[in-house]
Amino acid sequence: MRRLFAILITFCLALPAGAQSLIRDGDIEHALGQLARPVLRAAGLPADQIKVLVIQDSRMNAFVIDRAHIFIHSGLLLRLTRPEQLQAVLAHEAAHIANGHLTRRLDNIRTAGSVAAIGAGLALAAAASGVDGKAAIGVALGIGSSAQRRLFGHTRAEESAADAAALRYMRASGVDLAGYVEVLALFKNQELLMAERADPYTLTHPLSRDRLRAIEAQGAGVTPTPSAPEAAYWFARAKGKLQAFTQAPSATLRLTGRAWGTDEVTLLRQAVAWHRTPDAARAREAIDRAIALRPDDPYLHDLKGQILLEGRAAPAAVAAFARAAQLAPQDAQVLAGLGRAQLVAGKPAAAVATLERAMTRDASNPPALRDLATAYAQLNRPGEASLVTAERYLLLGRPKDARINAERASGLLPRGSAAWLRAQDALSAAEIQIKRQPRR
Ligand SMILES: [Zn+2]
Repeated sequence: MRRLFAILITFCLALPAGAQSLIRDGDIEHALGQLARPVLRAAGLPADQIKVLVIQDSRMNAFVIDRAHIFIHSGLLLRLTRPEQLQAVLAHEAAHIANGHLTRRLDNIRTAGSVAAIGAGLALAAAASGVDGKAAIGVALGIGSSAQRRLFGHTRAEESAADAAALRYMRASGVDLAGYVEVLALFKNQELLMAERADPYTLTHPLSRDRLRAIEAQGAGVTPTPSAPEAAYWFARAKGKLQAFTQAPSATLRLTGRAWGTDEVTLLRQAVAWHRTPDAARAREAIDRAIALRPDDPYLHDLKGQILLEGRAAPAAVAAFARAAQLAPQDAQVLAGLGRAQLVAGKPAAAVATLERAMTRDASNPPALRDLATAYAQLNRPGEASLVTAERYLLLGRPKDARINAERASGLLPRGSAAWLRAQDALSAAEIQIKRQPRR
């Protein structure tokens, strides 16, 4: 969740109230991935290639923009009370992906010649830029708000198709269908509200009242069955960590009690709450107790690294993150944490190696790109520093700043080298973004 802090502090302070950010946290994304896996498989989708990402926004919403990401607002995740409800949301979005509801429309935009040069990560990155997710994506695609509604809103026929498919996926993966009914009931009353006050979900996924009736007619039970222990665990972990980072520490400590927890999810939440209090000693004790219960969990070591790093204990943070990276060598978020700790600990060469590995797995991480630029600069590699700075500005939807840095990189890097070619790509992407940005 250092990404939450980093992104919020960097971008949100300068933004109007209600602005959004992407919450990048390896632990939460992993837990959501565990819950998504069975329904994605049942949908015939490659579960390893689809990430569930959380947007910091108190309104209820979930949406897809491509075949590789499902977005869920923190406000919806925090409102859900059991894993089957979350799996229902994910199954529904998986159905939109599997049925090609959005990609067809996005393909039309691509053929109209815009996003292709910038790449699929753009839309994701636009959401990370700290402005309204879908509006930012619209800006990046160069389309106005009515086009956005057409692009991201689903038709009545698509909704019924997605509902029917989602119920099939849930049935096939043994997830209690009552979760689906419960989620729709959450949205049911929303439709009576004025459009501006309703949660965006009801605007993009219309007609929950009719849908609810149809789903009940399809035999979805209304009597919930107990959750599978594994699903309950990952749900408690994702929601618990998100809650601990978003609500007041005192509220978390009230909920989890004054005594140390006896399970690692409670200890993890206590560690986050003490860390944010801040009480470094208690935070460290809590996370060490959690690790003792589950020593091979990379994300507990990752959180320990964050606590140490933000507590100005960089060398110890490097050790904790290194353990996390050893346990989850493919996780870009964990690698980004290790790279930052190495940079702060005064090891720019190690930081470059780690952050480059992180970037090959997930290049849409602005704070990690900033760390990488700093590390290059410390190693006297200004061409590469300018290149990754240009890429970061592209992700942030700041094409003019991107262009300046891409031009600088082009002048500094050996002509024809791989890095120089990337600078040319960044330059043309910046030009396209500049041309397509609506005047405000
Ligand atoms: Zn829908």
